[in-house]
Amino acid sequence: MIWIFLGAPGAGKGTQAERLQGDFGFVQISTGELLREAMRAGTELGKTVQGYVTRGELVPDDLVAAVLQERLAQGNTGNGVILDGFPRTVRQAEILEEILQKHCWQLCGVLYLEASEEVVQERLGGRRNCPQCGANYHVVTMPPKVDGRCDRCGAELVIRPDDTPDAIRNRLEVYHRQTEPLVAFYQQRGVLERVDASGDVDEVYRSVKEAVSRRWRQCLADG
Ligand code: AMP
Repeated sequence: MIWIFLGAPGAGKGTQAERLQGDFGFVQISTGELLREAMRAGTELGKTVQGYVTRGELVPDDLVAAVLQERLAQGNTGNGVILDGFPRTVRQAEILEEILQKHCWQLCGVLYLEASEEVVQERLGGRRNCPQCGANYHVVTMPPKVDGRCDRCGAELVIRPDDTPDAIRNRLEVYHRQTEPLVAFYQQRGVLERVDASGDVDEVYRSVKEAVSRRWRQCLADG
């Protein structure tokens, strides 16, 4: 079973997906994190995508789809996969439909995390990231236990290069133009669940869990 988390950068897709995987035995696959891993490792892929990611632009569809397919081919998909940050264009959504058909996988639900521009700006502005393991924090709402250090691996936290004001502006503009049309795309397919993502992490998570439970029942009933 496949789940998609859709929403603007800073809407909380990664944070919510991470919690959900612990409770439901799902596996979160973040294309952004896969790309950052490649950049950290300095692979050919990492070098190719570095410019796009740092400027806050989308990596070309075929390239990011290939990265996702490679990850899916490795297995380790638990009770289902949460796609965090894919698809981001209608073309990617079409590629995903082909992948699902090929493997006879079912798209169980698309959780659309809705938050205002002010909320996402505030979240991205205070975000800190672990360059070693990819964990995310927020200076006010989700601070690490030890100031500036990752709870999981102890590495020094950084501001992601695409969390600068210019890159944030670009990412939000790209989101509205290229990703938002997916709301209508999935609504037409009857799989969209809207979640109010403007509250605190626990509040949003309660709504996420409700939406997932609802869709899961529906999905099992549909076979
Ligand atoms: P994220 O961690 O999801 O915010 O993604 C960080 C960056 O990785 C994005 O701003 C894009 O440059 C790139 N990226 C991640 N997922 C995709 C995707 N599905 N399509 C194109 N670019 C992506």
